[in-house]
Amino acid sequence: MHRITLIPGEGIGPEVSRAMQQVVEASGVSVQWDIQEVGAIPEKEEGTPLPARVLDSISSNKVGFKGPITTPFGGSYRVLVTWEGGRKPGSPPVRDYPSISVGLRKELNLYANVRPTVSFQGIRTRFEGVDLISFRENTEDLYAGIEHWVTEGVAESIKVITRKASERFARFSFRYAHARGRKKITAVHKANIMKLTDGLFLNVAREVAESFPDMVFEDRVVDNMCMQLVIKPQEYDCLLMPNLYGDILSDLCAGLVGGLGVAPGANIGDHVAVFEPVHGSAPKYAGQDRVNPMASILCGAMMLEHINEMDTARYIREALRRVLSEGRHVTRDLGGRAGTREMTEAIIEQLGKIR
Ligand code: NAD
Repeated sequence: MHRITLIPGEGIGPEVSRAMQQVVEASGVSVQWDIQEVGAIPEKEEGTPLPARVLDSISSNKVGFKGPITTPFGGSYRVLVTWEGGRKPGSPPVRDYPSISVGLRKELNLYANVRPTVSFQGIRTRFEGVDLISFRENTEDLYAGIEHWVTEGVAESIKVITRKASERFARFSFRYAHARGRKKITAVHKANIMKLTDGLFLNVAREVAESFPDMVFEDRVVDNMCMQLVIKPQEYDCLLMPNLYGDILSDLCAGLVGGLGVAPGANIGDHVAVFEPVHGSAPKYAGQDRVNPMASILCGAMMLEHINEMDTARYIREALRRVLSEGRHVTRDLGGRAGTREMTEAIIEQLGKIR
């Protein structure tokens, strides 16, 4: 019996999280879910959007799944849908707070973000044969959100890059890629302009690459990398990126293989891992049974691999592949008409034939 923390999330989060949960349960793996709410509800009821109980649950279970969460900004926002169908549109606004996803990564020291993007037969895109892994440093860089007002009308954001964080991240990424038989890592940076911060990130990556002589190491300036990826993505294998470029380019990579609905991800530290789709909470689609559950289901497969349920992870991917190839039960973002539930049920049906 595996014990896994499940954070359903907000907006479309509960729907896609439930899809992942149903597929994992149908796979036959025995899981006890420890369901934990974060966000607007605990913010109102417990005075914080990220209560300590959530961090304790993940730390003790060592593995978690997180649905997307809405990060309020620019005043206030309204909760649309929650796990238990709680607050409805029109409930009182809550105050702004920092990103819970960023908070979780920092608090649990989940320093590496891993996002595979793979072409699937049945998903029509501009490219075939894309098979990329984006590695994104998760704890520092501009994305850490160290900002302040210098004076009225002047805001400052500080970009911090350290040798320690860059090195542990680069080592993790090379080891992860190497263990999966990957051949090449491309570091992405802007060291021509940010010579100290991105220069440090790049130099550390170069040093770490020396310990992996059977892998090719190269680097690209981030603007050039964007252009290269939308022309010939098949020439790249693994991308090693500081936090902000990783955030942006991993969405770009998702676009190469069918969009945000198909891209899974994982946040991994030395002791704990939390799996989450790349996409956000898409509040405008919340509760409509229309978004693609595939990213979350693929997160479920990554999570099962992480807990050594390799065969089951393979069966889930195969079931998904069959549903995509057949093309009858796919969601609108993939050109079909199925809802979230119908696509999930089709995957579960295929899974039953494979197991
Ligand atoms: P988003 O990813 O929620 O949505 C952007 C667009 O992508 C949607 O309008 C939709 O067209 C498409 N999309 C997203 N998920 C999809 C799915 N499963 N199936 C089909 N199409 C899908 O990004 P956004 O609109 O910039 O952000 C909305 C909220 O989500 C914000 O509050 C943001 O802060 C938050 N967010 C959270 C996370 C996270 O929790 N990890 C990540 C990104 C954004």
